[in-house]
Amino acid sequence: MKVTISAGYGVVSKIHPTGHTGIDYAVPLGTPLHAPYDGIVTAVRDYGSSSLGKSVFVQKADGTLYTLGHLSDIKVKIGQKVAHGDLLAFSGSTGRSTGPHLHYGEFTSTGQPIDPGDLPFDAFTPYPGWTQHFRPLLEANERFFQNWFSDQPQNYEAFPIIVEKFVDLFIFLLPELIAIGMIYYGFKIMLAPLFK
Ligand SMILES: [Zn+2]
Repeated sequence: MKVTISAGYGVVSKIHPTGHTGIDYAVPLGTPLHAPYDGIVTAVRDYGSSSLGKSVFVQKADGTLYTLGHLSDIKVKIGQKVAHGDLLAFSGSTGRSTGPHLHYGEFTSTGQPIDPGDLPFDAFTPYPGWTQHFRPLLEANERFFQNWFSDQPQNYEAFPIIVEKFVDLFIFLLPELIAIGMIYYGFKIMLAPLFK
């Protein structure tokens, strides 16, 4: 999804006389917003018609926080663990906002704003379908081998998950495999006279 940045980090304007503390992405109302990073939801706020309006705050493993503001609907709760790609919220125009957009900000653990850098809007979009199928497989695989090489008593709990995910993946890829097969044989039949 190609999205323009309507206000970059540090930009001084009438609305942000001391400098903008995040990045504004011009997105239509109700755009699904997915977690750009893994973390734990530390706050879900509604500042009404001021500040960020409906907003969500997530703490990353390194202690820094990120926030999404001016939302219309929030799909996560305080204390919830989120993984990169999980649905967090839908964009809106709540709080001090002149039109639908997403405000994204980052802070240190003490609340000092940090420049999020050149974060593309793609960071808020879900993984493409096929990687969503690979991710649980890779995670189950990782857990399995962590257990395998640890001194802890063996835990085979992950094994059926790996099998299940492989079956899932196969079912997911089946239509593509059939299509590839049909194209291959189609061409073979069509082109056969040429090679006689
Ligand atoms: Zn903003």
